[in-house]
Amino acid sequence: MDTQLDWSVYDSYGAGDAYAAVPATGGAYGKAAAVCIGNRQCQRTDKGVMCPSFRATEDVAHSTQHRAATLKAALNGDFGSKPFVGPELEAAMDLCVGCKGCKRECPNGVDMALLRIEALAQRWAALGGAPLRERLLAHLPRFAHRLAGLNGVLRLRERVPLLARLTERWLGISAKRSLPRSATRSFLSSAPGEVVGAAEGREIVLLVDTFSNHFDTETAEAALEILLAGGYRIHIARPAAGERPLCCGRTFLSHGLIPEARAEGRRMVDTLWPYVERGVPVVGLEPSCLLMLRDEYYALGLGEKVDKIAKAAVLLEEFLAREHDAERLDLAFKSMPGAQAMVHGHCHQKAFGALKAMRKVLGLVPELRVEFIESSCCGMAGAFGLEAEHYDISMRMAELALLPKVREADPETLLIANGTSCRHQIRDGAQRESAHFARVLRAALAI
Ligand code: SF4
Ligand code: SF4
Repeated sequence: MDTQLDWSVYDSYGAGDAYAAVPATGGAYGKAAAVCIGNRQCQRTDKGVMCPSFRATEDVAHSTQHRAATLKAALNGDFGSKPFVGPELEAAMDLCVGCKGCKRECPNGVDMALLRIEALAQRWAALGGAPLRERLLAHLPRFAHRLAGLNGVLRLRERVPLLARLTERWLGISAKRSLPRSATRSFLSSAPGEVVGAAEGREIVLLVDTFSNHFDTETAEAALEILLAGGYRIHIARPAAGERPLCCGRTFLSHGLIPEARAEGRRMVDTLWPYVERGVPVVGLEPSCLLMLRDEYYALGLGEKVDKIAKAAVLLEEFLAREHDAERLDLAFKSMPGAQAMVHGHCHQKAFGALKAMRKVLGLVPELRVEFIESSCCGMAGAFGLEAEHYDISMRMAELALLPKVREADPETLLIANGTSCRHQIRDGAQRESAHFARVLRAALAI
């Protein structure tokens, strides 16, 4: 079997271990599935975040262990010669939201989010291509700049139920969902030139993702203001003249379109390399985009530069926390007596332990009380919750902890959620607005 991702990191798994149960086919991909030893800690709900689909269904058929076992059976030939198009694997993977909870919490670090992507890519290859909805959702970064012209249509869709039902029938997007409005002007089209800030300041690269560029532009504006206030010399990452905006490749990868994700990854690596090569950190905002540079870029086989890029890539909160620890953070915050913030961490922030950094930086704001919601995946998980067949389970995931906590919060509580899709879920499920951490921090700046 030719895999589309690079699984060579698992090459030596099971060497010399007679009980490793490595599948008969699949090579290192099979070994990555064999990492699961079946002790079923992913079928517990008493602590941690793994596994949201099991937590919401309490059905072992939707646990990490069952997915790994099904994948191993598929690679052992138990489901015939075309297991990736068969119903067994499709059903096992169906509710995996790619949260990476297993990668962090499973004692063996099973990376089901990545295993699922390879299975999806194999499925599309066997079927001759991905379905229209998946291609549409994956290609969002390519047409996001045109969406502002459709805001009127989206408003109409929310007022006319028939239109919403037609979108569901034609495209498989749930009629019960709102759809995000695009900003009339993208952040990058109105941002200052390529370099801004103090000429003598410490250099950084600000990486503005598709979502902060086209949808929540206030997040990018707030991040830029914070970094300017901190006295940094900021390079705003931009593509070569005439090229489409940079994109990490996340939407392509999540939908199993690996060649397209790899192409975006290559452009990103080429753009960032001149900075990273001389030690300039890359600061990003959207967890699933920035953390892709630290994680999936290895599996995309983007070459040796990835290692240095992965080490340079940090979320805004991680960068500020690190600067504070190094006694270089030159930001003053005003006192916020009586203010209360409630944080919902994005799954990938949790998987990479980035919430500690956010706790530290928010702790610098005098008298701001901060509560972190004990929650698993919000259930939106990129576009998962938009898909008509996943709407109900998406809401069940959100109702496990997140939405009840948000509803309990008084109206003045500042709701913080760094994930675009988490904010979408909170808006749809609790009719409350939440904001990226950067916007709350900017409001706390003493300037
Ligand atoms: S996925 Fe991890 S936690 Fe679940 S059964 Fe396998 S090894 Fe155990
Ligand atoms: S990535 Fe998340 S949803 Fe998928 S198996 Fe792992 S913990 Fe479960």
